Amino acid sequence: MIIVIDGPAGAGKSSTAKSVAAQAGLHLLDTGAFYRMVTILYLREGSDMTRLLHRLEGASLTAKPSHGGLVYAVDGEDVTEEIRLPIISANVSKVATNAQVRDQVNARLRPIASTGDFIAEGRDLGTVVFPEAQLKFWMTADLEHRAKRRVAELRLAGHQVDEQAIRQNLAERDAIDSNRDAAPLSRANDAIDIDTSLLDFEEQVEFVLGHLQTLQNKKPNQ
Ligand code: C5P
Repeated sequence: MIIVIDGPAGAGKSSTAKSVAAQAGLHLLDTGAFYRMVTILYLREGSDMTRLLHRLEGASLTAKPSHGGLVYAVDGEDVTEEIRLPIISANVSKVATNAQVRDQVNARLRPIASTGDFIAEGRDLGTVVFPEAQLKFWMTADLEHRAKRRVAELRLAGHQVDEQAIRQNLAERDAIDSNRDAAPLSRANDAIDIDTSLLDFEEQVEFVLGHLQTLQNKKPNQ
């Protein structure tokens, strides 16, 4: 089974997917983390796209469960903290516009998802990567709510944050993600909408769990 949540940055996809995964016994697939790992390689290759694509071919990008969370590694090197640095957030959407980068990431995501029951979150999952998903959600919120949520998350994780810079980064990433040619951020026709400006965290988790329960109740009769 695969359930997907797509939507713009900071709408609450990651935290919702994490909580649903824990409560419903699903594995978690944060697809943005894969673009972030690729961005680490991009910067290490001198921001040269040709060199990155060459480097990426043999690279191992992994997400392994550890102590209740996930450890992300590039060729075995733990980059779990590095992928969240502002320099990565500032460059990731540019890197993700490249169609070959997207093919490389998708070639790693699809085999992972085929190993069990997953809830995945990203931008193009319901439309391009997992069009066969049994449940698709489109999670949005207005920019102000998203910026405030991201600031709170980063502060909780002990980072010093500039709220204005966070708001600007979210808006810039949305614009790049929505306007690129290759698999842009877009709502699948069969997606269920969730506007998290109108819900608190528990409500958005319950909403997803409710749809999941309905799906599971239907299954035996199909
Ligand atoms: O989800 P997160 O904000 O960590 O994603 C970082 C970036 O990766 C996004 O802004 C987007 O540019 C890219 N991305 C994407 N397609 C996905 C997931 C993420 O293009 N499925």
